[in-house]
Amino acid sequence: MLLLISSFCSAQKTCDILIQNGKIIDGSGNNWYYGDVAIKDGKIAALGKFLRYTSTNTINASGLIVAPGFIDVHTHIEGDEAKNPTADNFIYDGVTTVVAGNCGSSNVNISNYLKWIDSLKLSVNVASLIGHNDVRRSVMGRANRDATSAELLQMQTLVENAMKGGAVGLSTGLIYIPGTYSNTTEIVALAKTASKYNGVYASHMRDEGDKVTDAINEAITIAREASIPVEISHFKLSGQQNWGRSRETVAMVDNARQQGLDITIDQYPYTASSTSISTLLPDEILADGQDSIIARLTNSDIKKE
Ligand SMILES: [Zn+2]
Repeated sequence: MLLLISSFCSAQKTCDILIQNGKIIDGSGNNWYYGDVAIKDGKIAALGKFLRYTSTNTINASGLIVAPGFIDVHTHIEGDEAKNPTADNFIYDGVTTVVAGNCGSSNVNISNYLKWIDSLKLSVNVASLIGHNDVRRSVMGRANRDATSAELLQMQTLVENAMKGGAVGLSTGLIYIPGTYSNTTEIVALAKTASKYNGVYASHMRDEGDKVTDAINEAITIAREASIPVEISHFKLSGQQNWGRSRETVAMVDNARQQGLDITIDQYPYTASSTSISTLLPDEILADGQDSIIARLTNSDIKKE
């Protein structure tokens, strides 16, 4: 074989990086195969078996998988971008693109955020959703009520600007303040704005426990009414009493997909979940400002409850 290759030497091209003998999974749905990847000027120049390429930078990938970088659609990198610019935790897992702005929480000015991200020269690509909680908070504070039509318009403008500024969609965190005070109509209106710019809607649903089917139905309603692809975040069932109900919940998603709705889910591969302790308090307690919360908590009846 070596003789054969050397006899073709004159036909060999050079490349910057040559990855050899890897198990190639190209991400398109094709079957995997063993082969080589030639990279030149930052792009894949050739892909296949026994490439006629040489390089001074050759990587022997035998026993390893060669695949496009993974996209982690559900991250909460906010606050750590500058602290951890090489993002080793993602890179060493094969993740090269992360989606931020999940669970309703993001920078409201996405354009500025992405400019800042560019300046950090991170090892990973970053996309961001526009978070409903931050949009609602900047228009209505922590008010526990429906939005007026003027407020809804203001929120739509913020979402529109975010989409124009590079956001990939809208996210909600409907168990968190103030997102929990919003109704479905409000989210449909904002999702329509995101849809106009080809965005997706990623939902941390209103309930992941006893009322999970109501929450899934809400996500499906939003998909239908706003004509938007919906990604249900960290699809799970909280509480031992709900174990086994995934038969029911997965069937709901399957059924919606069969009706032509673009609904997908993501899930983390462990049995724990984490969030802030405030989610254990009733939503009414957490409305308005800090002073109102303290006043309620010092009221003996409320405290008892
Ligand atoms: Zn979440």
